Formats: sequence, structure tokens, C-alpha cells
Amino acid sequence: MKNSRRDFLQKLAASAATLPFLSSYHTFANSGLRPITLSQSPTLKVALMGLGGYASRVAEAMQSCKRAKITGLISGTPEKLADWGNRFGVPETSRYNYENLDRIKDNPEIDAVYVITPNALHHDHVIRVAKAGKHAICEKPMALNANEGQEMVDACTRARVKLLVGYRMHFEPKTVEVVRMRAAGEFGKIKFFQGQCGFRIGDPNQWRLDKDLAGGGAMMDIGIYAINGSRYMVGEEPIWVTAQETKTDSVKFKEGVDETIQFQLGFPSGAVASCLSTYNMNYLDRFFLNGEKGFAEMQPSTGYGPIKGRTNKGELTQPHVTHQTLQMDAMAGIILDGDVPIVPVDGHEGLRDLKIIDAVYRAAATGIKQELELG
Ligand code: NDP
Repeated sequence: MKNSRRDFLQKLAASAATLPFLSSYHTFANSGLRPITLSQSPTLKVALMGLGGYASRVAEAMQSCKRAKITGLISGTPEKLADWGNRFGVPETSRYNYENLDRIKDNPEIDAVYVITPNALHHDHVIRVAKAGKHAICEKPMALNANEGQEMVDACTRARVKLLVGYRMHFEPKTVEVVRMRAAGEFGKIKFFQGQCGFRIGDPNQWRLDKDLAGGGAMMDIGIYAINGSRYMVGEEPIWVTAQETKTDSVKFKEGVDETIQFQLGFPSGAVASCLSTYNMNYLDRFFLNGEKGFAEMQPSTGYGPIKGRTNKGELTQPHVTHQTLQMDAMAGIILDGDVPIVPVDGHEGLRDLKIIDAVYRAAATGIKQELELG
């Protein structure tokens, strides 16, 4: 199993590195990068910060990891620290709150902190983690805007620690296969991508509908999958964006909290993307990629899986593996061994998405097409 995964990824890397379509996509083509490997050791010692819904999922998934384990906990809720500490075998000496978390700098049992708090807190939390000399894994969206994101990238660079973003789809086998096929030219010249991402959000009092904590609405939370997906599916960086916002419920979706935004991206090759981000429609988790020689469609495309999809060549049959297990093992390789994933998950990747989100909001507010310079 381990060998077949390694073989697969090595083949993927080898084929991708020779291909013109990937050369416009920022990292891979010219750099002689190593593919991910899953060697047995060492193990990445991870502290989870923000013990909420998604951290629960990550913690369970990490029980099956080969290279990453939970060795620390950071929470504002003492009962959770006691409960999670007992469940996951984290001693009291490695449990922290938001006041004393800076003390992790003296804890050799922590290599990295996975920041899984509400969006508005990522900036401060990641910078504190970096200052403590630990690697940061940060949930999406990496920050509220590109300025914050740049500060986080700079802080991690200064501290000589890595900053990764929790883009679990970058390791999902069917997604990786479609990226491989596109990079191998199997769909021909890419012409069009469609990303439709949304769900009907419930409780009107949750932080996701509070601009101060969420930084926006659906776009920050779920629309980002269409933005990020359009980049790795098309394999280029967009150069312009247009956007239109619709709001049907201004009580639930207050000023600055977007309910539904449609947006379009243009790419240097002439390919275009048409995307929908919403908190007001269910059954909306679909990617469609169209090229001159073929297509890929995935539905569901970014949920927790199993992801389903097919191309013009048939069904995608790669087995489902819990996304967060794959992600954390791969991130251990990135942090400890310098492995380079097929689709990047570093802070620059997160920052590019934030620049696009900023531009989507500007385009929606002004009705004016925004040029993008993602760097
Ligand atoms: P939750 O509300 O379930 O959990 C957030 C946790 O953060 C809380 O339980 C709390 O934990 C801590 N926290 C600290 N300060 C606050 C505050 N002021 N208000 C609320 N909570 C606070 O959120 P999620 O787990 O769903 O989301 C957390 C992050 O993970 C978000 O950035 C989200 O976008 C991302 N996410 C990513 C997913 C993915 O698939 N990659 C899926 C779902 C979410 P404590 O009591 O321990 O301090």
C-alpha cells in the first residue's frame, strides 16, 4: 500500500515535471522537486489549537496517521483541555490556553501547531506560533485579507518556520489524479472550469455569520474552495476577476457577510472559470473542467468524501482515504523532510487565495473588473 502510493506519486511527479501545462503553475515544472514520500520516521508532533468541530474531525483522523501525532492542546475551555487530554493522551504539561500558549517555545514535545480557530484569529495565532519557534499549520481561509496573510508569511519566514494551510483536497487521490491528467495534457488545452460551492447555513448566531470573526460570509468559508480549485484544476494563476453579489436575507446575512456571490476568473491562456459561492443553497459541491480533448467532473468535489467523479475516459476509481489523515501525514513529510506536494499548501498558496478573495469583494462592490497580480 505504502509502495503503491509512493510509486503513484513518483510517476505523477515525473510525468508532471515534463509537461508544458504545469510550467505556468508556479512551483513544479522547472525545479526538480521531490515527490512526497511516506517514510516511517520521524513523527511530526502537533498541538491542536481551537478544540471545536473541525479540530474534532482532525483529531479523530490523526489517530490513523503514520507520521503525525497529537502531542499538545491549546484551548480557551478548561473542560476541553481535560477531556481531550485524557482522550488523546496529552499530559497536562502540554496543555495550554490562549494566554499562556507562548510557552510552547520551551516544549520539545511540540514541533507544529495546527490553528483551527475562527478565521479572524488565525493572523494573531499563527504569528504567536511562529514567534514561539514552531511550525504553523493554519486552517482556511488563512486570514481575513491579503495584508494579514502577507504579515503571517513574513513572520514565519523571519522565524524560519514553515507555514502550511489546511488545504486537504490537495492530497485527495481523485483530485490529485485529475490534476495529474490535466498536467499530462490528457484533457488538451484547458478552456473552462466551473466551481459551485455552497450549503444552506443554519444557526444565525454562529461565528461564521459574524463579520468580525469570519471576515465575510460564504466566500471566506466555502467559496474559497472554488477559488483554490479553479487554480489547481486549470493549472494557471488568474489575471482578472469579475463578481456579482445577491442577497435575499439581509437579516441573517448582515452588512459585510456575503450570502451568494457569482464570480468569473480569467487565465493567461484564455481559459475562464465561472464560480458560485453561497450560504443559501444545498447540494452544491461540483467541479467541472473542460479541455479541447476531454473533461473531468466531480460531485461531490470538496466535501469530506468520498469524492466522486469521472472524466471523458471513465469513472475515477482511486480509493477514499480520510482526507485529514492523508493531509497530516503529507504535512509531516513537508515539514520534516522538505517534501514538495503536487499542489502547494504553503503560505504563499494561502496568500494567493486571499488576494483573489479581496479582489472578488472589490469586484462585487464596484461592478468593475479587477486585474490580479498574484506574484
Ligand atoms: P468551531 O466553532 O466548531 O470551533 C472553533 C473553536 O475555536 C472553538 O470551539 C473554540 O475552541 C475556539 N475559539 C477561540 N476563540 C473563539 C471565539 N471567539 N469564538 C468561537 N470559537 C473560538 O469552528 P470550526 O471548527 O468549524 O472552524 C474552525 C476553523 O476551521 C475555521 O477557520 C474554518 O474555516 C476551518 N474549517 C476548515 C474545514 C476544512 O475542511 N478544511 C472544515 C471546517 C472548518 P476552544 O474552546 O478550544 O478555545
